[in-house]
Amino acid sequence: MLTGANIVLVGGDARQLEVIRKLTELDATVLAVGFDGLSTPLDGAVHAELDGQLFEDADALILPAVGTDDDGTVTAVFSDKQLVLEEAYIARLPKHCKVYTGMAKPYLKDLCAKYGIGLVELFERDDVAIYNSIPTAEGAVMMAIQHTDITIHGSTALVLGMGRTGLTLARTLRGMGARVKIGVRRDEHFARAYEMGFEPFYIKDLAAHAGNLDLLFNTIPTMIVTAQIIAQMPSRAVIIDLASKPGGTDFRYAERRGIKALLAPGLPGIVAPKTAGRIMADCLGRLLMEDLRLGREKR
Ligand code: NAP
Repeated sequence: MLTGANIVLVGGDARQLEVIRKLTELDATVLAVGFDGLSTPLDGAVHAELDGQLFEDADALILPAVGTDDDGTVTAVFSDKQLVLEEAYIARLPKHCKVYTGMAKPYLKDLCAKYGIGLVELFERDDVAIYNSIPTAEGAVMMAIQHTDITIHGSTALVLGMGRTGLTLARTLRGMGARVKIGVRRDEHFARAYEMGFEPFYIKDLAAHAGNLDLLFNTIPTMIVTAQIIAQMPSRAVIIDLASKPGGTDFRYAERRGIKALLAPGLPGIVAPKTAGRIMADCLGRLLMEDLRLGREKR
């Protein structure tokens, strides 16, 4: 349980409502900033204003999926107020307090480093990335259905990358009856993809596989679907790029060739905010219990 823990939660979207629900269930005191426009009551949490004093007794500071932007602004969809996480706030956090977020930009990383405050990026964790790959794959399928006039069943789909997202997506597409080819760079991934019944190929040979496909899903966060690759693709092909911004596709060239290419960031929060929130909430609950227990032992 989190009895006695003082948790400050700043900003976010529907996902944070699941986090608040979980933390109050665990008996933490949750002070929530940026939820003043919410039409329903906040489950057990207390509305708070962004103010330096708030941070002085915090055992944990929870920020949204993307902690802050490059200038410290925290997104808060349930508030019209602009929330900026100022340096002075981080400076007032007790040393045992950690900051938890999905992913942190340099602004937040630098501030935490400067004041010796622990920073936990949930999306870097394998378990969270694997759980998140489920709504991501469903979102990718949704986009494929929206942007094609054929079924996924019977289509030829290329999935580039066999990491946490790529593997889940490949299995989802195969389950729907697609012919799935996976582009990998490692021999062991090639072998595993073969063992699992996919059609593996090496990414360096992508051009040779680009001529016959209906759907191309990219999960590799580097320029991989280049103009040379797109030039080989049939005009019916649709590219859905899941890799973090700016993606791995030459979107300008795809448009020039009349090939539909879509960058699809943040799918879990879009297609399944409740599930995405529960994934963060469950992980946060476990981490906070462990971190606060260790923190108390040290003090
Ligand atoms: P991951 O587990 O690290 O998988 C990435 C894959 O890309 C690995 O198979 C890796 O191969 C491969 N790769 C990386 N660089 C490569 C290169 N230069 N050439 C060939 N292969 C390369 O990452 P993930 O969790 O699946 O996430 C993949 C991307 O999707 C990230 O950018 C992530 O931010 C994004 N993402 C987007 C959404 C969304 O909603 N759109 C949701 C979740 C994640 P090796 O194993 O050989 O390194």
